[in-house]
Amino acid sequence: TAEPQTRRFEAEVEQVLKLVTHSLYSHKEIFLRELISNASDACDKLRFEALAKPDLAAGDADFRVEISLDEAARTITIRDNGIGMSQDEVIANIGTIASSGTRKFLESLSGDARKDTQLIGQFGVGFYSAFVVADKVTLISRRADLPHDQAVRWESTGTGEYQLSTVTDAARGTAVILHLKPEEDEFLKPWRVRSLVSKYSDHVAFPIRMLKEKQGEDEAEAEASQSTEWETVNHASALWMRPKSELKDEDYQGFYKHIAHAYDEALAWTHNRVEGNQSYTSLIYLPTQAPFDLAYSGRDERKGLKLYIRRVFIMDASEQLLPAYLRFVRGVVDSDDLPLNVSREILQENRMVQQIRSGLVKRALDLLDKLVSDDADKYKTFWGNFGAVLKEGVAEDHGNRERIAKLLRFASTKSEGDAPTVGFDQYIERMVEGQEAIYFITADSYKAAANSPQLEQLKAKGFEVLLMSERIDEWMMGYLSEYAGKKLRNVAKGDLDLGKKDEAEEAAQKQAEQDAEPVLKQIKAHLGERVREVKLSRRLTDSASCLVVDEYDMAMHLKRMLKAAGQ
Ligand code: ADP
Ligand code: MG
Repeated sequence: TAEPQTRRFEAEVEQVLKLVTHSLYSHKEIFLRELISNASDACDKLRFEALAKPDLAAGDADFRVEISLDEAARTITIRDNGIGMSQDEVIANIGTIASSGTRKFLESLSGDARKDTQLIGQFGVGFYSAFVVADKVTLISRRADLPHDQAVRWESTGTGEYQLSTVTDAARGTAVILHLKPEEDEFLKPWRVRSLVSKYSDHVAFPIRMLKEKQGEDEAEAEASQSTEWETVNHASALWMRPKSELKDEDYQGFYKHIAHAYDEALAWTHNRVEGNQSYTSLIYLPTQAPFDLAYSGRDERKGLKLYIRRVFIMDASEQLLPAYLRFVRGVVDSDDLPLNVSREILQENRMVQQIRSGLVKRALDLLDKLVSDDADKYKTFWGNFGAVLKEGVAEDHGNRERIAKLLRFASTKSEGDAPTVGFDQYIERMVEGQEAIYFITADSYKAAANSPQLEQLKAKGFEVLLMSERIDEWMMGYLSEYAGKKLRNVAKGDLDLGKKDEAEEAAQKQAEQDAEPVLKQIKAHLGERVREVKLSRRLTDSASCLVVDEYDMAMHLKRMLKAAGQ
């Protein structure tokens, strides 16, 4: 064998290594879950590739993860018989940070250990967590399609450099050997490691095995019975296939953390089996916390809904199975009927997939309805974190527009402060005598909306006005002209018709308009091209004047936004 080669990590890797070891310090046991999760991913990948090329898994088709402890050598080894890596793959996956999100990750670190820990999970710097407990990590890997003498050995102390060499007798898959730091003895204790496996990895669908513990009182006997027998220490079954009655909340929470790579608790979930011309099982979750990039890059690179076909993991299919406005949903779908050789392209067009997709949308909206009626606090949390994303659905999902509109929450002239708590249903319930439409105003900020002079006359009449100040509101409301048969009216646009007036009022208005005409003409002459028209307003009670745009013009703050963006 050739001399080991020494290479340097990418600069970013060094930075990430430092941050990971630093910010994970109080959650050090996370390394085990990360390495098991990589091992499980590797088994998933091989099982999938072996569908087309059965030879790849031949001779060793019982996918598994094995953890062994060596007290004398002070090592813990996590081994899988999954896909493995070629030398190039090791360099690409372990020596660099492949993810395009890395820079964003680095920029988004807050220095707050709790938050940073969550980010680390989302950006897949999982492998490096090994260095939290180890002062040296050795990885030996052979890709399933390479011969025995083309395995690779990678080793690093996590300080800038790593060594690479060729190995000639490695088994298929990957072994990661952690040489534990002096103070990390706890991870050499079988009971400790077992309890971590059940805490974090119970729901990995492959068996995680450890050597049977020594039995017997007698030292000598125990020594003699030093076990070479493996036993499975996790549940090792697809959780979503188990009957609901068997599953406890902890099971669902544990599985959520496993599949969503999450550190938060799930807010709610729904687990369903659909039987019929198209049968599938789905288990979908609402997270409690939003990933920091949800609203922006989240639309392009979506992840979090895993597609299985008859228990075989196929791919992350969020983009095919969920509309963008539900991109916060996490979970699994396991289809009985799709062909195992589906590709992304097929998924895009497949009629069965479209059925599953609309089924999932319905489940997700049902779940939200249920939160609204059963747990107002949780819905508030949901709305605070994901409301702005759900709003996209008003524009994008015509068929569910009314259902989504029902879930919207806003601040209003009749609610406390700027908290978005008022929905259209509640609004309609407390509409006053003579009020026919739902009134709202959009502005740059809550303050601007709440202090808008355009509200004066509505307030005087006792009409509630929804105060909308999120960026997306103006655009969204462009798609919503009615709710439950009531017209939605932007009070900053067009002529405001505040319900029926009696004849006397009508006459008084006419008279006032006539009286004002000369003044209005003068003002218009003075302002010239800067305004289209000067009118006598019914909007105001205290202010002398306000600006109004035509019904079909852009709202003023949108104009300001576009202008600011250089348009
Ligand atoms: P992530 O799992 O989120 O991609 P990690 O840092 O945990 O990030 O792993 C980086 C990459 O290294 C993986 O995407 C995978 O390609 C590769 N890798 C890590 N562990 C294994 C393993 N046991 N078998 C095969 N590939 C692995
Ligand atoms: Mg990983």
